Amino acid sequence: MRILKMRCKFCGYWNRVPVNKVLVEQDSPEPKVKVFIPMYLPLQASKCEKCGEVIAQPKELIKIVKSGFGNSQRDEMLIEF
Ligand SMILES: [Zn+2]
Repeated sequence: MRILKMRCKFCGYWNRVPVNKVLVEQDSPEPKVKVFIPMYLPLQASKCEKCGEVIAQPKELIKIVKSGFGNSQRDEMLIEF
């Protein structure tokens, strides 16, 4: 188990969500090559501490999207439905 920092998409507040790391196979342009990307599965439904909106569900995988350093944005974690 690990703790993922996740930004609430409703109010922008950063929450800590307990997750399990899983590897998900992706389509690859090269048939012999398997591509796995790490995703995160919430252990429980989580609500934003600030606004109370549900930000993570146990069935919904979380994919981490990094916005890169060097600009004003922090690493961002988005839920892919
Ligand atoms: Zn919120």
